[in-house]
Amino acid sequence: MTLLENWRTKAYGDGTNEKEKEALWKDYFLTEKGIYEKLLSDVKHVERGTVRELAEKFQTDVQTMTGFLDGINESLHEENPIETMDEDTEVKLEIDPEKLYYHMVEAKADWLYGLEAWDSILTEARRKELYKEQKASGTIRKPAKVGRNDPCPCGSGKKYKHCCGKNA
Ligand SMILES: [Zn+2]
Repeated sequence: MTLLENWRTKAYGDGTNEKEKEALWKDYFLTEKGIYEKLLSDVKHVERGTVRELAEKFQTDVQTMTGFLDGINESLHEENPIETMDEDTEVKLEIDPEKLYYHMVEAKADWLYGLEAWDSILTEARRKELYKEQKASGTIRKPAKVGRNDPCPCGSGKKYKHCCGKNA
C-alpha cells in the first residue's frame, strides 16, 4: 500500500473504526492549521525535503504529512507525486496563493481561509473575488470531515455546529 492509499483508507475508508477516524481528523485539523500558519507567514519561501523530513520539520508524523500533501497538492505551482511517493520521496511546497485560497473556500474551511496571514498575501478585494468565484462555480468539494458536535477545527473550543459550521 502506498502512503496515500494508507492515508485515504484510514481517513475516508468505510471499513474503519469511526472513533479512530474521528481522532485522526481531530489531530489532523490541529496540525494542518499549524502548518498553514507557518507556511503563510512566508508564502514565497519554497519548502523542500523528503516526506519524512517535512513531517519532522512541522513536528508531525509521516501519515499526517501525507494527508497534508494530499490536501495542498492542487494549490501548488507544481504538483508532487502523491500517488506514488514514499517517505524518502523529495517533495516541495511552492504555493500558488490564489489557488490555495480558492480551495480553502471550496473546502468550507473558514478557520483556514480566515487566517490572519492572508491579510498580507492577497488584498481583501481579491479574496472577495475569489470567494465569489468559487461560490459561483457550483463545485462542492466533499466538506472537511468534522462532526456537528465535534470541537471546531478552528480551535475556538466551541462545538463545530455553534462555530464555523453554523451555516453548514
Ligand atoms: Zn470555528
